[in-house]
Amino acid sequence: MSVKFQDYYETLGLDRNATDKEIKAAYRKLARKWHPDLHPAAEKKEAEEKFKKINEAYEVLKDPEKRERYDRLGSRWKDGQNFQGGPDMGEARYYSTGDFGTGGFEGSFEGGFSDFFSAFFGGGSPGTGRSGRTAQRGPVKGEDLESEIKLTLEEAYRGGTRSIRLSSSAICPECSGTGTRERSFCARCGGTGTIPDEKTLDVKIPAGVKEGSRIRLKGQGGSGLGGAPKGDLFLKVRLQSHPVFRLKGDNIEIDAVIHPDQAVFGDKIPVQTLDGNVNVKVPPGSRHGNKLRLRDKGYPGKNSVRGDQLVRLVIDIPADLSKDEKELYKKLYELRKGGK
Ligand SMILES: [Zn+2]
Repeated sequence: MSVKFQDYYETLGLDRNATDKEIKAAYRKLARKWHPDLHPAAEKKEAEEKFKKINEAYEVLKDPEKRERYDRLGSRWKDGQNFQGGPDMGEARYYSTGDFGTGGFEGSFEGGFSDFFSAFFGGGSPGTGRSGRTAQRGPVKGEDLESEIKLTLEEAYRGGTRSIRLSSSAICPECSGTGTRERSFCARCGGTGTIPDEKTLDVKIPAGVKEGSRIRLKGQGGSGLGGAPKGDLFLKVRLQSHPVFRLKGDNIEIDAVIHPDQAVFGDKIPVQTLDGNVNVKVPPGSRHGNKLRLRDKGYPGKNSVRGDQLVRLVIDIPADLSKDEKELYKKLYELRKGGK
């Protein structure tokens, strides 16, 4: 029996001295990337293949005994030989231990290992009638999924309910995720074991939610296996940039345009805040760039203590100067010139 050698280190992008930690990290990264549930139908096949290989590689490299045994083979395949398995290779049989769930991904995909794995680690190569490779997989909780939710500053500040549309995939009910029906591909899911799942969810947004925080939707993640509960969905909050407000920590900054006469004599101007408009007193003799502080009108911070709103004064001339106003400006201009 000639079986194609699988380079598990290459599969995980590791060199041969990789530590357990590096192996685990590489596995997690790749499993997340290639998890079939996270790929659209068109890419599913490729993702499944990759995912299968990644899982197999991890199955071996994470286990010191298996890894050592695998490493010992090294010299034989380096010459370009494919691995020759024989009856003598079956002396030590390893089985998947059912140690799924720690990686978060294992078990959510019914893959099966390559002939190489079966020949090398035992557990029934095709045709032997043994099927040790289909390990006893207990119930496995569905994986947690992560997505984003974009909110305006006002939505985040007020909180409330927001409907979102979710596209994900669910385990095919026709074949229970195995991809096969009566010794043929399952027609419902095309053999992938999953079907597209679209739904609308009402999401409760806590008032004052922060950029980057995560809203947990219990039971809206991936499907569990063997009657295990579904995973959760985490929505990462992304605050959209606001046309008027600039969020700086818990403070909110805003520009307010005033005219030169208002700057000279002072005035009361309406200013937009998260709670609606308020009238703000501009002191006489205000300068361009001066900032007025509105206490507790900022964004809720720690313990719901609100930051302040800072109103930055921008002095500009009116775009629609009347004839009379122009006359007065001219007078002002001449006055200042004559005064020099
Ligand atoms: Zn199916």
